[in-house]
Amino acid sequence: MKKNQLPGNGTRSVWAGEEEYLMDSVTQVPVVHSVSFGYKDVTHWQQVALGEKEGHIYGRNTNPTVSVFEDKIRRLEGAEAATSAATGMGIISCTLFSLLLPGQKVVSVKDTYGGTNKIFTEFLPRINVNVALCDTTDHDAIEKEIADGCDLLYLETPTNPTIKILDLERLAKAGKNAGAVVVVDNTFATPINQRPLDLGADLVLHSATKFLGGHADALGGVVCGDSELIKKIYHYREITGATLDPMSAYLLLRGMKTLELRIQRQNSNALEVAKFLESHPKIKKVFYPGLESHEGHDIAKKQMSGFGGMLSFMLAEDTFEAVGTVLKHLKYAHCAANLGAVETIAGPPATTSHVECTREERLRMGIPESLIRYSTGIENAADLIGDLDAALSKLP
Ligand SMILES: *Cc1c(COP(=O)(O)O)cnc(C)c1O
Repeated sequence: MKKNQLPGNGTRSVWAGEEEYLMDSVTQVPVVHSVSFGYKDVTHWQQVALGEKEGHIYGRNTNPTVSVFEDKIRRLEGAEAATSAATGMGIISCTLFSLLLPGQKVVSVKDTYGGTNKIFTEFLPRINVNVALCDTTDHDAIEKEIADGCDLLYLETPTNPTIKILDLERLAKAGKNAGAVVVVDNTFATPINQRPLDLGADLVLHSATKFLGGHADALGGVVCGDSELIKKIYHYREITGATLDPMSAYLLLRGMKTLELRIQRQNSNALEVAKFLESHPKIKKVFYPGLESHEGHDIAKKQMSGFGGMLSFMLAEDTFEAVGTVLKHLKYAHCAANLGAVETIAGPPATTSHVECTREERLRMGIPESLIRYSTGIENAADLIGDLDAALSKLP
């Protein structure tokens, strides 16, 4: 074995952030519920308060359990620094509002997460930040928009709900050439499948609520990358107050121990399910980057080490009623507005990612009426396939 070789993803999922912390006492990271941290020595207290010495002062700023969570994901993403927030949207808001100034310009794509899209279209324009949203897979148009001026390039891949793929290396390069900060939402891929910092991004962020936590029992968000940028985002978060709570940090940490195992299983389950659906007569189209028929397959193959657990499919009978019929008959799927958990989760964009849009808006965005988003869990592929087959047989 090479010296100084980094431990593998499985080892890091289990140990990163914890090995120094646990030393000679407990073997699991304690949930520290204390709001404040006491000091008898006022000089020491002041040094910690001024950031000259390590330590914790007040729970809105930092907390030991939360710090271990941040450290684990930081090391899985191969980043200098990380900071967290109460939710994915919390960390996305802190990132955008701490780094952008009035008069500046964001370049992004039309298919970002619904909440992110609302920040772009509703809140950033209010403070005079210009946002250009390009057609998601039109790389030439995105590059052209970046070259016209760009302070922050915001990318997300694979996207929600039609699982489109962006070429991160190509676009990050264009962003850097224009002097932009390059931010990537890596929620769908996780660092097990894709490492945006290695492909040229400055910041990588997550809704930890999804695959990182993996058990649909805690909300959280985290951003990793360049330490100067992270400092600004942390400062904005500590003042505005969307802090991740210690109990959620603990649940996310515990979930992350099995991250590599879960993602590997979800990758292989999703690929098997996608292949099955692609050959099914009651399915019109399957969106999964692991299929050779997917328009982003070659880019995905180049930049991802697995194609992820997310897929979506369009029914041959393109109606919302047909969606209801299939969902009602699925035995092994929660019908819910979530994704990335150990249980399979299914739902239409109309009630999940694109609940804010009208039917016409969704159709204009290329989201078919009968689309079902399917977040593959860690069940056995044969059971998921059998379940889908039985549910599809209920369609006329
Ligand atoms: C869910 C999600 C978010 C928002 O995360 P919350 O934890 O729900 O605030 C952001 N980006 C993507 C890709 C998501 O799936």
